[in-house]
Amino acid sequence: MAEISGAQLVVESLKREGVDTVYVLPGDPVGDIVNGCAQAGLRMISMRHEQSLAMAAQAQSYFTRRIGVAIVASGVGQTNTLTGIANATVNCWPLLVIGGSAELRRRGMGDFQELAQIESTAPLAKWTGLAESPQRIPSLINLGIKNAMSGRPGAAYLDLPAEMITGTVDDSEVVWPEPVADPPRPLADPAEVKKALEILAQAETPLLIVGKGAAWSWAEEELLQFVDKTQIPFLTSPMGAGMLPPDHPMNVSAARTQALQGADTILLVGARLNWIFHFGAPPRFNENYKLIQLDIHPEEIGTNHPADAALVGDAKMVMGQLNEALDETPVVFGETPWLGSLKEKVAQNAASIEPMLNSNASPIGYYRILKEIRDVLPKEAIVVADGASTMDISRQVIDIWYPRHRIDAGVAGCVGTGVPFSIAAKVNHPDKPVVCLQGDWAFGFNGMDIETAARFNLAIVWVIFQNGNIDKWVRNYVEGVEDPNDFQPGIRFDMMMQAFGGHGELVERPEDIRPALERAFNSGKASVVNVVMDPGAGRRQQQFAWLAREGRMGY
Ligand code: ADP
Repeated sequence: MAEISGAQLVVESLKREGVDTVYVLPGDPVGDIVNGCAQAGLRMISMRHEQSLAMAAQAQSYFTRRIGVAIVASGVGQTNTLTGIANATVNCWPLLVIGGSAELRRRGMGDFQELAQIESTAPLAKWTGLAESPQRIPSLINLGIKNAMSGRPGAAYLDLPAEMITGTVDDSEVVWPEPVADPPRPLADPAEVKKALEILAQAETPLLIVGKGAAWSWAEEELLQFVDKTQIPFLTSPMGAGMLPPDHPMNVSAARTQALQGADTILLVGARLNWIFHFGAPPRFNENYKLIQLDIHPEEIGTNHPADAALVGDAKMVMGQLNEALDETPVVFGETPWLGSLKEKVAQNAASIEPMLNSNASPIGYYRILKEIRDVLPKEAIVVADGASTMDISRQVIDIWYPRHRIDAGVAGCVGTGVPFSIAAKVNHPDKPVVCLQGDWAFGFNGMDIETAARFNLAIVWVIFQNGNIDKWVRNYVEGVEDPNDFQPGIRFDMMMQAFGGHGELVERPEDIRPALERAFNSGKASVVNVVMDPGAGRRQQQFAWLAREGRMGY
């Protein structure tokens, strides 16, 4: 029998749950937890802002299919994580935030950094918990992880009042739960599987859409088998990219508008018909398409468009069910006129951006920068994208070859994720090149954390697309006044990285992009390639803006 503190209980619980990496910003009252984790040999990535570390921790989850953990101090330290918590929940990614908080016995008395932490977090999280006695800490951490990871993942927040961390209990009083197992992988109702294939067999213009729920499920092998068996045209969501090989003959991602409008039957796997997919509605979709919806979250079925078959289950398992059923009842599309028309559009779209990719214009536009990046990147590179235009245009230019090798703001449209996501990418994939494509505005949000990358010797290459303003589409609508969307031009972000001991490059001419990128990748250091570009640069003219926004922020 021995006394054990709340802080030690947190450390021991994390170890038992298999956590090996924690993103932290130490402070009162979590100092003993942070020190205890470090002493216990956990990898501690200490960062400069709580928003940033909450984002890094959720990217940790996405890359590893294990819980990502963030530990933060009380009050505003914790409320700084709210954007990260919201981003995780909205993107269906697991995250456990452990926050210190004011002493329970002093609540309402104006204690140090006393804030309504649980109340403000609850609407943005999947689960919140409060420790009211130290011996409950292991159970609550277990419950938080289970809630974050199971079913549709999301953020969990555990509130630890100061006296729960410093308080001690007799270790014989502590109940240690079984560590959380890998998230369950439910199978779909076999009747719906059968129905799904019957509907698919009737399709003339079928389309498979793959989203990041499938990426979280690691369903890539089963998806490839399915596409090879059925020869169905497919496209991916921004983070579904890489779930199927980009050079697969059935890939019609580059004919997105035509594919969505023309499909009479859609198999939607781990993606939502939200704003990213234009709510699944005309004019972006066919009026009466049939929907076969695969999602782990039953409540998602039928959102925005009725589902004709509901495959409720885990993407990897259910794609396996479909593949098995196909062995008995094959459905094969192959070289149809539908595929032919989509492939024609893919070729047209590729040709239409070719002049911009090769443009020698100065100041430089997005396409030329992205083309140079594409040409130096090996296939195994992880691509992080942040900032509206940078994110959108990079999808047209840079192919993603492997699952979970592109990560961006996602459904929350959250600007500022690039720096922390890149840090988590390199922490988890030290042997792979990590490039962050980031607008200068987006970089500003969590830019200070490039110091974290330099400090931990994380050789990430940030390419900053410095157009010196928030974005063209916002900028165009301010007339007759000094534009509030403009920044000081020509900022030396490269010198900022040099000041931290990393590598910096300033680029102003198209022919200098490539050598600067090569020097950055070869430096073996955290690097910034600061490209000063055309302030009015944009994307190629389109029938619809690719995301739902058209013109004045309308939908
Ligand atoms: P995207 O942004 O790629 O379009 P969304 O975030 O809109 O993707 O949708 C992801 C969907 O995947 C969510 O509806 C979520 O419930 C679902 N999902 C999460 N995990 C799984 C899983 N293991 N199997 C199937 N669907 C999943």
